[in-house]
Amino acid sequence: MITREQIQELAQFEDPKSCALTFYFQPTTPRNKAHKEEAILVKDLARDVLRRLESKGGEAEKAKYESARADVERIVRLSQELRGNGARARGVFACSAQNFWREFDLPAQLSGTQLSVNRHFHLKPLAQLLGAVPRLGIVLVDRHRARLFDLRLGELTEREGFFHPLLRRGRSDGFAGYDGGHAERRVADEARQHFKVVAEFIKDGLEKGVFEKWIVGCQETHWPQFVPLLHPYISQRLLGRFNAEVTHAGREEIRSQAERIFADWQKKRCEDTVREALSQARSGGRGVTGLRRVLRSLEAGEIQTLLIGDDFVGQAVECSGCGHLDAHLVHICPVCGRDTRKVVDVGEAILPRVIRQNLELFYVKGDPEFDRVGNIAALLRFRSPKTEKAWPMMVVRPHAPGELMGKYRGAARG
Ligand SMILES: [Zn+2]
Repeated sequence: MITREQIQELAQFEDPKSCALTFYFQPTTPRNKAHKEEAILVKDLARDVLRRLESKGGEAEKAKYESARADVERIVRLSQELRGNGARARGVFACSAQNFWREFDLPAQLSGTQLSVNRHFHLKPLAQLLGAVPRLGIVLVDRHRARLFDLRLGELTEREGFFHPLLRRGRSDGFAGYDGGHAERRVADEARQHFKVVAEFIKDGLEKGVFEKWIVGCQETHWPQFVPLLHPYISQRLLGRFNAEVTHAGREEIRSQAERIFADWQKKRCEDTVREALSQARSGGRGVTGLRRVLRSLEAGEIQTLLIGDDFVGQAVECSGCGHLDAHLVHICPVCGRDTRKVVDVGEAILPRVIRQNLELFYVKGDPEFDRVGNIAALLRFRSPKTEKAWPMMVVRPHAPGELMGKYRGAARG
């Protein structure tokens, strides 16, 4: 799985000859001919990319074409090996001119298989996967057992499981017939003790940043006993609950339940953030809309959550010297005075900064109001008064650890 450092490396990579190749492979649902179809698709994509490179023509382009061609051919060979096992997607980032090749397993949630060659790697599919993914803990609990899992990029890992030791002794005493009332009380007390320990354990994990959000798997009958013991701090970070039996719950069941709860939460969070950003922007508060203002806030380090229309298209220029992005198509950088160049896709060009600044990122789909205000917006952590008046301003405030919900951090330790 991909780490935060690896994503950073991809975000920073640049090939001046525009030979940075990006390949995303999304397996089709298992069908008889799936693998064959996948292989044909990749070959078609490869042919298109090579044709586009060739059409640029010119002697100077020749060497560049050779380098990209070597990578494309390697991708085609690789795709033959990606025997549609159906489970995993793959991302490949390559540039043989710079001796660069990185391959990662990804959850099979990409929008499709694609291949492209450009100055930078194509990061939007990665950003879509990771942009708003907190480190997620899943806790299964009953009256005397608990298990803790991590869910990262579709991969479920069990971290810890424990029985409450007192309780095991309590249960094995077996004097219920002789002193039923006492034993029952004792079991209830011990269950309560156990729930308390588990609640403390979760609080500790959240405070230490082991996970940022959590989901609980618990039987209906146990939930009313557990929930009063949860500190408000951990209740706020609970995304949802599913019904599960601690010892018998299978991995696939746990994973799919947790992913469903997470997807619902994420959808709602995206909607809420859009509403808040727009309303804050209207009232001149902690929100901005439109490419120009968003770029300005991005460079000023003000953004908490970035919202980009899934079909966002915008024009901008990028300074060849300092990297400043400007929605005005100026030839000279207003920050450092060097030449600018046009960026093909500004939605893509801002991703390296988004990744560097560890911002929460949502792609917004089918929201007419959001579209009307420019199809791009941001919720700010603060609004620096200077950016309203004076431009340029290049202050990027460093983030204190734990200050932000670390979206890309989610992938970091996976
Ligand atoms: Zn500049």
